[in-house]
Amino acid sequence: VRATTDEEASAKAAAADADRGAPTIFDKIIAKEIPSTVVYEDEKVLGFRDINPQAPVHVILIPKARDGLTQLSKAEARHEEILGHLLYAAKKVAEKEGILDGFRVVINDGPTACQSVYHLHLHVLGGRQMKWPPG
Ligand code: IMP
Repeated sequence: VRATTDEEASAKAAAADADRGAPTIFDKIIAKEIPSTVVYEDEKVLGFRDINPQAPVHVILIPKARDGLTQLSKAEARHEEILGHLLYAAKKVAEKEGILDGFRVVINDGPTACQSVYHLHLHVLGGRQMKWPPG
C-alpha cells in the first residue's frame, strides 16, 4: 500500500464535492468576487493566470458556464462546441503570451490525474523548455 499524498487526498475530496454539484473557486473568479489576472476573455471563456504557476506562462482557461462540465470525462455531445472554442482560445492565449514557438495544453481529469478544481479547465503552459513525460 503506497502512501497517499496531500495532493491526492484533496483531489479526492474535491471530486466528491463536484459529485454533489458544489460550486468551485472558479465561479468566484468568473463573478469577480475574488481577484484574478485575466489574460484572455470572450463571451464564452475566461483565461487567467494560475495562482501557483508551474512555468513562466501558466494560464487557466475555463468555460464561463460550467453546464455539467466538471471534468472532461463528463463531456456530452452538447459540449462539443465549447470544447473546440476552448482549444482555439488556448492558441490565442499562447499567441498573446508570446509562446507560439512552444507551449503545452493540459487537462487533468479526476483524482488519479490530481484534478483539484471541478470546473473544466485547460492549463496553457510555456515560457521555458518543457519536459516529457510529465509527473
Ligand atoms: P487542476 O489541479 O488541474 O484541477 O488545476 C487547478 C489549478 O487552479 C491549479 O493549477 C491551481 O493552482 C489553480 N488555482 C486554484 N485556485 C486558483 C485561484 O484562486 N486563482 C488562480 N488559480 C487558481
